Order: sequence, then structure tokens, then C-alpha cells
Amino acid sequence: MPELPEVEIAARRIGAAVAGARVESSLAPGMVTMKTFAPPLDALTATTIEGVGRRGKMFVVGFGELSLLIHLMSAGRLQVWDKRASLRDKASRLLVRLEDGRELRLREFGTQQRAWAKVLPSGEVDADEAVATLGPEAWPAPPAEELATVLGQPRHLHPLLRDQRTIAGIGRSWVDEVLWTARLSPFKKGAELEREEVQRLREAIQERLGAALEHYEEVIGDTVPDKLPMPLLVHRRSGEPCPRCATKIEAIHFKDYVLCYCPQEQTGGRVLKDRRLSRLLK
Ligand SMILES: [Zn+2]
Repeated sequence: MPELPEVEIAARRIGAAVAGARVESSLAPGMVTMKTFAPPLDALTATTIEGVGRRGKMFVVGFGELSLLIHLMSAGRLQVWDKRASLRDKASRLLVRLEDGRELRLREFGTQQRAWAKVLPSGEVDADEAVATLGPEAWPAPPAEELATVLGQPRHLHPLLRDQRTIAGIGRSWVDEVLWTARLSPFKKGAELEREEVQRLREAIQERLGAALEHYEEVIGDTVPDKLPMPLLVHRRSGEPCPRCATKIEAIHFKDYVLCYCPQEQTGGRVLKDRRLSRLLK
């Protein structure tokens, strides 16, 4: 699933590509993609795209008085195409056809339809439930005081940082990177962080997400590729040496994701083998 840096770079590139373009028509081949019915999708016809923004991991495409709020979930992609999609393309979920012949297309891969979109009056985007429940944006990182407040929960840092209601934009990939950068255990509880640890965590969030964005700005051209070149150092690198201390990066396999960490620097040398064991450790 794309996280804050990936959605941000896509919003910048797509925004630059489609700003000023007029909408000819829109349709949603994804039967369950549209989560709103009024205003109807047709209301976008003859409007002009003003730009593309981001809230957490969601896109906000601005059409003047109306906006499209789009969540890719785990397998969606938003891209601009020079030509229209074939109506037989089973991956198509939402098509915004532009008068110049191009198309802003939301596609989704796999068997499930989970990506969604809403047409909202632009003034109501921030009040929409999906946006209003977000914690502060992870990048730029919130001030240390605010971060300490939102993290002050008796929950492990790994799920806590991925919870969009706590802080918005971090997911399964960047959480590993941020915790490794901050040298913090994924199983430390948010409420148990020392002041200095919150500061370290804040710097790690700022540094890693910011560096990812700078990296994308350098290597990604006008079109965002299907698979982004994510500058990851520990995530999905179990078995490889830690880039800092050369200890073998370990992994814990959960049902839906893999957690990677450096035991030497993050868990006091302890190797946590699986989720049953991991429950016992702080
Ligand atoms: Zn290490």
C-alpha cells in the first residue's frame, strides 16, 4: 500500500499533469467504488481540475466547488493515461475523462474491490469522516509535544504509528524504517516513551519520510511508475546485515505483513521469533 511519500509524489506529478484540464465525463466501472451518491459523479462534467492534494494516504482531486476524495487501499493506483481505458479492463474502478483525450484513472489489482472514492463539496472534505478522524500529518512531522500527546497510549509503537487516527501517512513499510532509524523497539508502548525518545522518533519520521520524498523527486519523471523505487533500508530485508551495525535484520511474520528490525539496536539483542512470542515482550 502506498504511504505518505508515495501518495505525495503521485499527487504532485498527477496534479502537474492535469491541472487546468476540463472534464468531459466520468464513470465508475467499479460497482462499489463510489461511496457517495450526492452530488453525483456526473456533477464533475465540464468542471476544470484545479489540482491534486493529499490527506494522509488519500488523494484529494480538486474540481473547483467539488472534490474527489480517493483512497487506494492496498491495491489501487491512480494514474493519468494518454488514452481511454478499454471498457473490458477489469482493473478500472473510476475513470475521469478529460476533454483533451486523456483520462485520470483509478485502477485496482487483485480480486477484491476495496479502493474507494467520494464526490464531496470541496468545503466539506476536511469534515468527511475519513479525513476528520485522521491524526496529525506525519510529514512534516508534528512538534514533539503534539507527537508525545498523540502517542501517549498503552499500545505498541508498530501498530500505533500505523494507526491513521494517531498519526496520518505511515504504514507497514515506513514504520519499520522509522523505528529502526530511531533505534526503538516496535514493542515499546507509546505511553512509555521518554521525552528524548519522542524527540528521536520525531526526527526519524521527519528524516525518513522527507528523504523518501526528495528521492522520488529526483528519480521519478512526469509519470509515476506502477512500482515505486522505495528507498527502504530494513523493511523486507530480513537476513541482510543492518546498514548501521551489520547485525542480521530479523523479521516477525504476521498474517498480513512482515515486521523487520535490528535486534542489536532495537530490542536489546533479543530476537523475537513469532507473534506469540512477541506478545510477551515489551
Ligand atoms: Zn543495527
